[in-house]
Amino acid sequence: MTKSLLTNSRTKTVATVGPASATQEKLAELIQAGVDVFRLNMAHGKRDAHELALSNIRAASEQLKTPVAVLVDLAGPKIRLGHLFEEPLNLENGEAVKFVRGTKSSARNELTCLYEPLIDEVSEGESIVLADGLARLQVTKSSADELHCVVVDGGKVRSRQGVNLPGTQLSIPALGEVDIDNAIWAAGQEVDFVSLSFVRNADEVRQLQKVLADHGSTAHVVSKIEKKEALDQLDSIIEATDAIMVARGDLGVEIDIEKTPAAQKRIIKKCLQYRKPVIVATQMLESMHSSKQPTRAEVTDVANAILDGADACMLSGETAIGEYPIEAVTMMNKIMRETELALVSRNSRMTAYDRSEGWAISDAVIYGTAQIARRISAKMVVIASEKDTAARLKSKQRDHIPTVCITDQVNPLRKMCLYWGVLPVLAPNSFEKSQLESFVNKWSSENTNLKSGEPFVAVTDTEVLPGIYDSVLVARIK
Ligand code: PGA
Repeated sequence: MTKSLLTNSRTKTVATVGPASATQEKLAELIQAGVDVFRLNMAHGKRDAHELALSNIRAASEQLKTPVAVLVDLAGPKIRLGHLFEEPLNLENGEAVKFVRGTKSSARNELTCLYEPLIDEVSEGESIVLADGLARLQVTKSSADELHCVVVDGGKVRSRQGVNLPGTQLSIPALGEVDIDNAIWAAGQEVDFVSLSFVRNADEVRQLQKVLADHGSTAHVVSKIEKKEALDQLDSIIEATDAIMVARGDLGVEIDIEKTPAAQKRIIKKCLQYRKPVIVATQMLESMHSSKQPTRAEVTDVANAILDGADACMLSGETAIGEYPIEAVTMMNKIMRETELALVSRNSRMTAYDRSEGWAISDAVIYGTAQIARRISAKMVVIASEKDTAARLKSKQRDHIPTVCITDQVNPLRKMCLYWGVLPVLAPNSFEKSQLESFVNKWSSENTNLKSGEPFVAVTDTEVLPGIYDSVLVARIK
C-alpha cells in the first residue's frame, strides 16, 4: 500500500540504522512510522553488518511496497585519540598535558592521536577539542615530537574519542583511502545518496561525484557542513553538491557552539536559493535514547528546523542504538505534521534569486505549476518524469498541495524520498506519458479520497508532444 501524502509528514525523516534497528522487522516498523531515508554510518560497524542492513532495508521496502532511499555516510577524516594511560582520563582545568607520537600513552599526562601528522600541523595558540567538546586544550608550545598543552576546559575523556582542531588547516583529504573504498562499495550496492564528512571545498565534492560516476553510480552526494572552512565556501559547495547536511555534532565543535543556530539558518536559506535539499542532523531527539518522551527543547528544535526550511530531519543514535527507535520516528512525524500547518508558502520567504530573471526553464515551469495549483485550489500536483529534478524543484515551493511524482525509473524514484512534500510513485515499465491523465485517475481512485470533478495540475519534462519538453496540464479527476 502506498503511503498517503495526505496523512504523512511532508518533511522527510532520515534514520540511522544500527543494532537497535537493523532487522527487517524493525526496519519495516520504522518505514511505517515515517522513515523515508535510512542512513548507514560508515564510522561504525563492519562492512558485512552494513551489507546485511542494506538487504534488510530493501526487503522491508519491498514487503511494504514503499520506496525508501539509502544514504551511505562516509566517515571522512575523523581524528581520534589513541589509547589513554587511564580510562577514563579526568582532565582538570589548568593541568599540563602533552601529545606525543605513537598510538599508546605511557604516562597520565601523555596523549596520543591516531592522526599521525597532528604534532606537525598544530601550532602554538591553537585549540584542540576532545570528545565532541567535553574537554578543550590550548597548545602552549610545539616542538619536533611534542605538543605541550594546557587544559582550558576540563572533562572526562576516553580512548578513541574524537579530536577536533577548529583553527588548524589540516593536510588530510576529505576523501581518504577507506572512504574511497566505501564509496566504491556504495556504488556497487546502488545506494541513492553518499555523504561526504568534513568537506572543505567544492573540489572535494566533485572528487566524490567522480569516484561514484566512474563506478557506474548515479548516487547523489550529500555534503556535510561541519567545518568553518566549509561555511566560508558555502556558495560553491552548495552549487557543486546534490544535497547538504547541517552536521551539527561536529559543527558545534569546529565553530563555537553558540554560533550553530545562526549557521543552520544561513545554510538552509542558501539551499533554498540553490534549490538543493537540506537535512538537519544530530541530537534532534537526543533524550529519546533512553526516554519515551523528548524534552520541550528538542520538540522545539525539530519544529524550528522545519520552519527554517529543512527538507529532512535526521535521527542518529536515537534509531541506531536507542531504546525507543520507533517512538522517536513516530514523535518526529507528529512534530513535523503539526509544524507544517504553521509553514507559510514560499511567497513570503522570497530570496533574491526568486526576484531575479533568467531562471532555468524547468525551475520556472515548476514555479508556474505551483502558482496555477494554488490559484485554482488544486487538490494535487502530479509530476511525470524520468528524472528527479522536477520533484526536487517542486519541493522547494513548500505548498501544502500534495505532490505525486510518477516515474518508471527506480533510481530517481528513491531519490525523491528525500524531497519535502513529494510522494514518489513507481509507474509500470510500459508507462506512456501520453496516458498520464488516465494513470492519474486510476491511481487517485485507488490511493486517495479525491472526488470526481476536483482539479489537479500535472507537469512533465519529457517529450509528450513532439518537440515539446515541458508541458503543464490542468484537468479534473474523472
Ligand atoms: P556524524 O555526523 O554523526 O557522522 O558525526 C553528523 C554530525 O557531525 O552532526
